[in-house]
Amino acid sequence: MKASEIRQSFLKFFESKGHTIVASSPVVPGDDPTLLFTNAGMNQFKDVFLGFDKRPYTRAATSQKCIRAGGKHNDLDNVGYTARHHTFFEMLGNFSFGDYFKHDAIQYAWELLTDVFKLPKEKLWVTVYAEDDEAYDIWNKVVGVPAERIVRIGNNKGKRYASDNFWMMGDTGPCGPCTEIFYDHGPEIPGGPPGSPDEDGDRYIEIWNNVFMQFNRTEDGVMHKLPKPSVDTGMGLERITAVLQHVHSNYEIDLFVALLAAAKKAVDAAGGGDCDKDSPSLKVIADHIRACTFTVVDGVIPGNAGRGYVLRRIARRAIRHGYKLGARKPFFYTLVPALVEQMGEAYPELRAGAARATEVLKQEEERFFQTIERGMEILESALAAKPAVLDGDTAFKLHDTYGFPVDLTADVCRERGLTVDKARFDELLEQQKKGGREAGKFKMAQGLAYEGAPTTFHGYDELVREGAKVTAVYVD
Ligand code: ATP
Ligand code: MG
Ligand code: MG
Ligand code: MG
Repeated sequence: MKASEIRQSFLKFFESKGHTIVASSPVVPGDDPTLLFTNAGMNQFKDVFLGFDKRPYTRAATSQKCIRAGGKHNDLDNVGYTARHHTFFEMLGNFSFGDYFKHDAIQYAWELLTDVFKLPKEKLWVTVYAEDDEAYDIWNKVVGVPAERIVRIGNNKGKRYASDNFWMMGDTGPCGPCTEIFYDHGPEIPGGPPGSPDEDGDRYIEIWNNVFMQFNRTEDGVMHKLPKPSVDTGMGLERITAVLQHVHSNYEIDLFVALLAAAKKAVDAAGGGDCDKDSPSLKVIADHIRACTFTVVDGVIPGNAGRGYVLRRIARRAIRHGYKLGARKPFFYTLVPALVEQMGEAYPELRAGAARATEVLKQEEERFFQTIERGMEILESALAAKPAVLDGDTAFKLHDTYGFPVDLTADVCRERGLTVDKARFDELLEQQKKGGREAGKFKMAQGLAYEGAPTTFHGYDELVREGAKVTAVYVD
């Protein structure tokens, strides 16, 4: 089954169980200031769980576009390093708004995985929240999962709500204990079962989380009971597709194979020659083109703050990986059509927004190609001195003058087994902001404001002048 067929088969299954199929919401949440990007299928139903909003249905199923590259759920640093993490992914979910609860949720999940998808039962492990005897008994006594493959997780070091099996959307909002289903990809892959010290490996991969929504956490940390116990589930489409296509990594599924081939072609044409087709950098590029394109299509443009800066960070990271493979001119934006080809049918907005996304990403890429070479030279020469950590002054200069977001610099350092002196970097950033605030005050007092055209930043030493005026200087 192709990824697109698996998506359909999930939705059809839940439709047959009385669920209404609801379209994905945009990756930019409409009116939720607590959230940078949509990070789970339940986001669009937040108010329904809280009891503020009513829908004509009490059961829903979705395939939701998610981004986890900032905020509470941030997987940016995992991409290229694990087999299972993306910045952009699709979350398949079924929801009950005060309708069914633990019994049905668990049994639906089991039926889909073992009857419809025909997964071997002995390869499935489950976890439950430590104190949730009810969920444990449903798995063990009703479904028949043997005790050896049910792991109780939670109560981490006495912190009742800090464990992995207590799901929270963010620091505030709907939350509750959960039960998760893992697939054992086999002994040749390193990693231990959930709850073991080496659970972070890629052998036992978490495929599906079923959250029993029972509370609303407010800013003061208090858990308020929701009007009705509900269910929110999330299964990564790419992860279940890997299982069903008998491959280990998400990057080996049909959709990614096509994107990786397109990424290699684009990098090669931009100077990469015949780059290594197995390079993790190509995975990063294939992952990031999805995040960047969907983000632009849903209305964000690269910028220096908020969502725009997250977008810029992801795009520049991808560009740097292409540069590492030899690309010396823009290549990233040329991947948009390959993405549309793979995902345009499921997400028509992608087709409609493709031309604009291409243009926006192209501009961002052209801009970064103006500074990346010099920035990389500076970084390489700092690294050639074999420091124990990269000094914060260099990281700040790269950030400020060459448009290297600090996590991009950290990404390069990590490839060499180094970290960045973030404390010093933050100190310099704070100093600069303070300077900016003071200069702003001074300008206001003088009644001065810059009226000329924006200019590019040429570095510290050179004063940038427009006619007689000294202008404000920014990287873009
Ligand atoms: P993990 O522990 O592997 O990081 P998670 O516990 O953070 O996953 P949940 O918040 O429970 O994930 O999300 C529900 C499901 O969404 C997961 O079971 C997984 O299948 C999928 N998922 C989560 N994060 C990612 C990601 N970054 N890329 C791809 N799929 C993901
Ligand atoms: Mg995670
Ligand atoms: Mg997890
Ligand atoms: Mg989880």
